[in-house]
Amino acid sequence: MDRPSTSKARGICKYYQTLRGCYAGDKCKFLHGDPKTDKSKDAATRLTPYDQSKTCRYFASGFCKHGDKCWFRHVPPPQPKEIALQVDPIDEVCTICFEKPTLYGLLAGCSHVFCITCLKEWRDPKAKSFDVVQSGVHKKCPMCRTPSKFITPSSLFYKHSDPRKEQTISAYKDSMARLPCRYFVQSKAKKPFCPFGKDCFYQHLNDDGTPYTFVEGADASMRVNIIIPPFDVKLLISRILASPPVSRAPLFRF
Ligand SMILES: [Zn+2]
Ligand SMILES: [Zn+2]
Ligand SMILES: [Zn+2]
Ligand SMILES: [Zn+2]
Ligand SMILES: [Zn+2]
Repeated sequence: MDRPSTSKARGICKYYQTLRGCYAGDKCKFLHGDPKTDKSKDAATRLTPYDQSKTCRYFASGFCKHGDKCWFRHVPPPQPKEIALQVDPIDEVCTICFEKPTLYGLLAGCSHVFCITCLKEWRDPKAKSFDVVQSGVHKKCPMCRTPSKFITPSSLFYKHSDPRKEQTISAYKDSMARLPCRYFVQSKAKKPFCPFGKDCFYQHLNDDGTPYTFVEGADASMRVNIIIPPFDVKLLISRILASPPVSRAPLFRF
């Protein structure tokens, strides 16, 4: 049986057939068996895992004439249908704008669907009244009021039970931790400052590369440092506040 031309150049291991044997063993990239002469049934078992892991490009593109006897793995290409079925199309629209998001904003606490832009706007403290920011409602899901500390951008939407959601969120958190915090960078020459303090997800590093640790978290600086324009409550916010809240922090914590 002819091996497809892609692998011929790699050839047969010159050590495998000798008494010395092949020291590379399973990691050898050359053939441990000769497809031209070896017609025995167990020829395929003499392939290295490297060989065995190679997929058949003929099969993947539709048809392989070698069928069951092919030296390469016959793995069908992913079906577009399967991918589409992962999410119920009805669940895919943003709960705020009712559009299908191009980039989702995933919340760690719940499975409501939002586009990242709507969710960022919802959570932006600059456009909220002092009351709203103090209540912390903007850090909660607009639908179920489950608090989430940050938004994870994702091109795919995952339900809460989907393990890929956890993976996407923690990968994003890791990537944030490698980025320098802009508040910290701007202020560290004079007096290090970050409105999120020890709760910040970004990197706070001293000039010598050691981590800088704040004593206080986000709560402390919210009380004193953020100036909120009054009476700028958006329609959505007022609607949320008009309905009975699940839990609400006291307006002032002085
Ligand atoms: Zn070898
Ligand atoms: Zn094949
Ligand atoms: Zn939206
Ligand atoms: Zn929710
Ligand atoms: Zn920070």
